[in-house]
Amino acid sequence: MKSQHIVCKILPNSIAEELEIEIGDELVSIDDQPIEDIFDYQFLTEEEELTLLIRKPDGEEIEWEIEKDADEDLGLVFDNGLMDDYRSCSNKCIFCFIDQMPKGMRDTLYFKDDDSRLSFLQGNYITLTNLSDKDLERIVRYNLSPINISIHTMNPSLRCEMLHNKFAGEALKKIDYLHEHNVEMNGQIVLCKGYNDGEELTYTIERLEKYCPVMKSVSIVPVGLTKYRKGLCKLEPFTKEDACKLIELVESYQEKFFKAYGLHFIHLSDEFYILAGKELPSAKTYDNYLQLENGVGMVRLLLDETAAAIKDLPINLKKRELSIATGHLAAPFLEKCLEMIKTVYPNITVHLYPITNYFFGEQITVAGLITGTDLKNQLIDKPLGEALLIPIDMLRSGEDVFLDDLTVSDIEKALQVPIFRVKSSGQDLVYAIAGDESFKETDTHGDYEPSGL
Ligand code: SF4
Repeated sequence: MKSQHIVCKILPNSIAEELEIEIGDELVSIDDQPIEDIFDYQFLTEEEELTLLIRKPDGEEIEWEIEKDADEDLGLVFDNGLMDDYRSCSNKCIFCFIDQMPKGMRDTLYFKDDDSRLSFLQGNYITLTNLSDKDLERIVRYNLSPINISIHTMNPSLRCEMLHNKFAGEALKKIDYLHEHNVEMNGQIVLCKGYNDGEELTYTIERLEKYCPVMKSVSIVPVGLTKYRKGLCKLEPFTKEDACKLIELVESYQEKFFKAYGLHFIHLSDEFYILAGKELPSAKTYDNYLQLENGVGMVRLLLDETAAAIKDLPINLKKRELSIATGHLAAPFLEKCLEMIKTVYPNITVHLYPITNYFFGEQITVAGLITGTDLKNQLIDKPLGEALLIPIDMLRSGEDVFLDDLTVSDIEKALQVPIFRVKSSGQDLVYAIAGDESFKETDTHGDYEPSGL
């Protein structure tokens, strides 16, 4: 069903305000063209002259001829930022994290999106299985890039098996179309032991080479396995030996690709280096950190940024005692950061608490999947100092709510300590630990305000 575009806000001093368009009015068309989503809207409103058809709540339709500058916004804000419903996926992947979540969580957490528009707007990865020819043509016409693609394998029949979708192999041809039209792409491979690793992975990497450098990067991340896999395909976690072999394989390709294209192109997520107990690659290997959201290079960046940020701190910092909670994956590296800080500022004491994920299972070690309940239960009897720092990833985007719906203020009350939300950069970490007011003023992120007890 076609979405209605109901105005929910009018920007002050805008064309919409001047025309007395009101909240609750519906945008019907621009220049007689219906609007499917935000991309149509942005494209059509770039014109200097346009005709706007608005329908009032009582059904009356009003048409305005507008003259404006090409880059002038109309000042209309709609209910849904995408101006359309999110498209859900048509797959049943053997590694899907959503299928491994316990029942009873918030409905929105179970929504399986696979929408190319969100790839552009939010960086989501899409499988291309529900992307129509019209969608492809729109990506090119509106110059939507980069498009982030969940590739998983370049073997069509294996892709059908892994995604449980008979069209998943055929869908790989859409990468050719995007490549031919020079649409920048990034790829992702969720690696599943016994499926798309080993020779299959070698085949995939070799097939992907032809898309480089229009495709800028491909990350390889290990499948996340929670304790809720009853009835799902049997998947094994990777071992240290697996990780060592993978690193050897990927690093040999990185060298080759860098020589040929000036890009390392294939990247392993930090988890593989940690599992192998190997030194993380240097910053230049990450080609400007194109896949940080997939945990590729996060640790290297954190260490380097921390070292750099310490140099900016004043010589004397006041004595402080505080605490940090994170997942087991990042804890050893945060420990390294704290050691760096401690050598320069011995009067700052930081208790580091790696939180075990009992909610999803102990194999899940990333900070972003820690629940408020695990945090509270594991810190309740611990010394926390004057404040507790948590990575902002532990909370729902833009909100103060953990995955299990507990809020930051619930945890603050339970632990009797103010909680500071810290972004993932080393600079934010150092400034939050320093706790100096002057740094709060100069900070551009501003996310370590205490949320109050
Ligand atoms: S495409 Fe994503 S959301 Fe859909 S089943 Fe696969 S992993 Fe799950």
